[in-house]
Amino acid sequence: MSSGSSSLMWFRKGLRIHDNPALEYASKGSDFLYPVFVIDPHYMKPDPDAFSPGSSKAGLNRIRFLLESLSDLDSNLKKLGSRLLVLKGEPSEVLNRCLKEWDVKRLCFEYDTEPYYQALDVKVKGYASAAGIEVFSPVSHTLFNPADIIRRNGGRPPLTYQSFVKLVGDPSWASSPLSITLSSLPPIGSFGRCEISEVPTVEELGYEKTQQDEHSPFKGGESEALKKLRESIEKKEWVANFEKPKGDPSAFLTPATTVLSPYLKFGCLSSRYFYICLQDLYKNVKSHTSPPVSLAGQLLWRDFFYTVAFGTPNFDRMRGNKICKQIPWNDDDELLQAWREARTGFPWIDAIMIQLRKWGWMHHLARHSVACFLTRGDLFVHWEKGRDVFERLLIDSDWAINNGNWLWLSCSSFFYQYNRIYSPTSFGKKYDPNGDYIRHFLPVLKEMPKEYIYEPWTAPESIQKKAKCIIGRDYPKPVVAHDSASKECKRRMAEAYALNQKLTGLVSEEDLRNLR
Ligand code: FAD
Repeated sequence: MSSGSSSLMWFRKGLRIHDNPALEYASKGSDFLYPVFVIDPHYMKPDPDAFSPGSSKAGLNRIRFLLESLSDLDSNLKKLGSRLLVLKGEPSEVLNRCLKEWDVKRLCFEYDTEPYYQALDVKVKGYASAAGIEVFSPVSHTLFNPADIIRRNGGRPPLTYQSFVKLVGDPSWASSPLSITLSSLPPIGSFGRCEISEVPTVEELGYEKTQQDEHSPFKGGESEALKKLRESIEKKEWVANFEKPKGDPSAFLTPATTVLSPYLKFGCLSSRYFYICLQDLYKNVKSHTSPPVSLAGQLLWRDFFYTVAFGTPNFDRMRGNKICKQIPWNDDDELLQAWREARTGFPWIDAIMIQLRKWGWMHHLARHSVACFLTRGDLFVHWEKGRDVFERLLIDSDWAINNGNWLWLSCSSFFYQYNRIYSPTSFGKKYDPNGDYIRHFLPVLKEMPKEYIYEPWTAPESIQKKAKCIIGRDYPKPVVAHDSASKECKRRMAEAYALNQKLTGLVSEEDLRNLR
């Protein structure tokens, strides 16, 4: 136990020094400050049965990114005279032990809207208040406080982007500069009986070294996040003219968007700081794009999904979710596995799924393509199954945004034009007629002539032989015929929509019979 007043800063997301109100508050007027990260077995326990390396909740790319972010946080804390204390175990138990052992008077952590953290925080706050410990838990992961927005909207979340944008207006903090730097931190007191470690390596956490030939090119950490942000902001014209729907999903050497999502996910980058940098840039250019397509508009999409997710019970499932259409999805494990393991026989779809597995990141429209294909476009598999695969493999995997986008892409909520389907053959071709993206992520098709690269099963046998890729042997035949599969999907969506309307009393039995 340390004599003098001690604060504990509990890092979960928000892995940064800049714009970190919880850290700032924890450091004020404290004799000792304990900056803590808890390795939580819920997320990190290795799972040897998982179809690719990692834990059951997180693929290795995300775990590696997190550890890099922790190392960077540790070295940034060291520059301020402190360091990161890493502990292992169920977080509320670990925290309770530390609070007692270190005689903590003030506990600070960033507010989190995810159900897992909401439940955890109830436990931790309960213990702290019983022990007379002050808790400070500010909202700093999003631009706005989702609870405020919902309150302002009469207790319900706004369900369209337009109504959200209208409601939020300009953020109140945007006119005054954010406090983004700290010059020093109080020292750490004694550790007592708490077992502290350095930031572990992936091997120390029990993950085996992978033989994978290509790893995610994205390195975790606040330093890398700020560098990447600076590089984006320096491209003034690019930022001013940014229009999301016009980006090229097949551009992988120089992605068409910022690739800041992994850094925003872990809070290595403050979304408010990002937003302010954009506003400063917009003030200094003749004209710029606007929401929803602009870069600032992308940050508003993020807050939109956070707000709806926070205000919607059972947001992450179909059953019991009031804003989700009830659709009788197929329960077809074989098709799901073919999609997950990049064996659908559609090179555009399979290349995207390989990029997901190898890099943990794909362009937004690439995500659209594979999500549509799995659900209402071709396979009619439940969006929750696809969501699970993304949740595990994306580095930027984010509870609110991932569920929100799967609801959208499967036409279960937010977007309802189920007749608009992404073609798994012609959509990618528009951007990348030579198929360079496919050749990179699916080298088995490297030598396929460009005429056939999006539909290799149509190549004559002699061409397949010359390309050293026999369809059905070296690369799979398509798992479905797109034309008939998508037609059937549309029919089933029409039927499901009508049933949903009937449940709300808007369609008659006769209308339903006509649909069949
Ligand atoms: P940029 O275009 O540079 O945008 C800047 C930031 O704005 C992003 O980093 C992100 O934080 C936010 N943003 C951009 N697009 C969206 C969007 N549609 N919804 C919410 N926020 C957005 N994004 C995640 O961060 N985590 C996820 O788990 C996730 N799952 C998705 C699942 C599906 C099925 C789909 C279609 C999209 C998903 N997205 C997710 C949204 C989007 O694809 C990514 O945020 C984006 O591709 C990240 O790249 P970027 O940082 O270069 O984006």
